[in-house]
Amino acid sequence: MSKASHQVTGELKSSAIKYIVGALAGTLISAITVFLKHFVRPLYDTIMSQIPKDVLIHAANILLLVILLCFVWIILLYRERKTPLAGKYKFNEYGGYYLDPKNGQAVCPSCLSEGKIVHMMDVSGNKMCNACKTTCRGKKG
Ligand SMILES: [Zn+2]
Repeated sequence: MSKASHQVTGELKSSAIKYIVGALAGTLISAITVFLKHFVRPLYDTIMSQIPKDVLIHAANILLLVILLCFVWIILLYRERKTPLAGKYKFNEYGGYYLDPKNGQAVCPSCLSEGKIVHMMDVSGNKMCNACKTTCRGKKG
């Protein structure tokens, strides 16, 4: 057999596999549909006829409330994102850097303006950012 004919048989094999997989998937889907129609649908109907109507209304109300709460939560998250990062930190006027109220550490003003929170290290009393090499003078004395 030549190389070309090998390639052709290979392609034929792969397309045959595709057809088999497709046929299997089709069979599976129709089997699931039949299963749903004959077993799940009556079960669903039975359950729906057993549940009183007012319970359904309650469920709908709860669902509506949950959706409303999710909506409020999304708005709160959005507002949180919109508040500038600098607003969350105390500004040190002498050094020109920000202070993290959680641990009192200096926060790089240059990185903060780009939306990154980078704490600064102490270099002989002055503050230095390891990410952008910004230096700020430390506290007096
Ligand atoms: Zn920086």
